[in-house]
Amino acid sequence: MILSNMFTPSRREVLALGAGALGSIRLTAADSQTFQITSGESTIEVAFTPDEFDLSPPAILGWISIAARAVSAYYGRFPVARVSVRVRAAPDRAGVVSGTTYGEGPRTVITVGRHCTQRQLDSDWTITHEFLHLGFPNMPRQHHWIEEGIAVYAEPIARAQIGTVTVEQVWGDMIRDMHQGQPGPGDRGLDGTHTWGRTYWGGAIFCLLADIRIRERTSNRAGLQHALRGVLAAGGTIEHDWSIDDALAAGDAAVKVPVLAGLYAEMKDTPIVIDLEELWKKLGVQGANGRMIFQNDAPLAAIREAITKPL
Ligand SMILES: [Zn+2]
Repeated sequence: MILSNMFTPSRREVLALGAGALGSIRLTAADSQTFQITSGESTIEVAFTPDEFDLSPPAILGWISIAARAVSAYYGRFPVARVSVRVRAAPDRAGVVSGTTYGEGPRTVITVGRHCTQRQLDSDWTITHEFLHLGFPNMPRQHHWIEEGIAVYAEPIARAQIGTVTVEQVWGDMIRDMHQGQPGPGDRGLDGTHTWGRTYWGGAIFCLLADIRIRERTSNRAGLQHALRGVLAAGGTIEHDWSIDDALAAGDAAVKVPVLAGLYAEMKDTPIVIDLEELWKKLGVQGANGRMIFQNDAPLAAIREAITKPL
């Protein structure tokens, strides 16, 4: 089809993408394979070869735009002035396959199956995860758990804040997956064990605990989201190499309680098993027969509600 070779968003297509769901995001096609999405003050340059996908260019650009909007909702703005996104095709595959984000550029490379469907884009978390990485400084290798933990923990929350996943789904997935971050036999603290579970979900456990503790210490006026906005406001984007101590200090300064530094001191060298069952009970979340039940008289119910509420 001609459209796939020579895509220029027509006025109608731009309007369709821009109406309601995408807020202020505008996009323009620079040539047949590079596109620009404008999100607030930021520019997302997207490159792909339309012929390589069953999906239309507006579908792919709409998917990226919605992720930009979720991440902007979480951080208060899109975290970097400019990012380039390369969408690579995986022949004979469907769905979104993988993504990686680099500080140099900065740039995101994301692999999408040739036969990916609109439905698969609609339920994708990968591109939101990648864009969340843009809003935190680059860390030395032993601290990658904090970069991944933030992206894993904040991704569903960011999407819930713009209404593309439900609050039930956020907590249901946490109950299902969070235990994968617990230390196993022989594991060390978060800085000392670099397995997939400890890096992604161990980091997410750190973020959940930090979020709850900040909210407990501030009478629920601030949470991890406020702390991370503080890191970003201090200039902490993926384009910059920071020490973990400096990053956590910037977050603590923003919420005026030293929760991040304290929690890091507890968990960096020591493998701490968290009683997640007890935590879910206190938060008032319970999964039963494939659906979520929220207990609004649970001791941390107000904190649980605040975590997913749009800021
Ligand atoms: Zn990641």
